Amino acid sequence: MKIKTEQEMIDYGREFAREISRPLVLELVGDVGAGKTTFVRGLAEGLGVKEPVTSPSFTISKVYALPGGGNLVHYDFYRLKEPGLMLEDLEEKIADSKNVIVIEWGESIKDFLPEGHKKIKIKYTEEGREIIK
Ligand code: ADP
Ligand code: MG
Repeated sequence: MKIKTEQEMIDYGREFAREISRPLVLELVGDVGAGKTTFVRGLAEGLGVKEPVTSPSFTISKVYALPGGGNLVHYDFYRLKEPGLMLEDLEEKIADSKNVIVIEWGESIKDFLPEGHKKIKIKYTEEGREIIK
């Protein structure tokens, strides 16, 4: 699926929010600037989050309360070569079945994700982005 603009990526995230069932652990795979965080902005909107979503690359994780309970938990492990204490946090968040967990740069923690977790690949191309499920 081709995504030509930033707005289309947001809309894709919003649509995706309608299809999901919890618990969900979703890994986003794609280069820097591919649009992973932009997708999460749409996903958050679609899930009813009112506050703006910003990249968790400095804080590693950001948590947004969802209407009706549970949280959208957005991780970016890019800066963490060793997950350390964040691993405990991740496992705790995964254990709560009301949560929606989205992970960017999950290489260092991939062994701790539930088997068969969802993955979306975003390919950066000249004409825009391509979603590969
Ligand atoms: P990532 O989290 O993958 O590093 P971001 O979502 O933070 O990427 O950044 C993607 C950047 O590319 C944003 O500045 C966005 O405005 C821009 N952009 C341009 N075209 C697109 C597109 N088709 N889809 C997503 N982002 C796009
Ligand atoms: Mg990002």
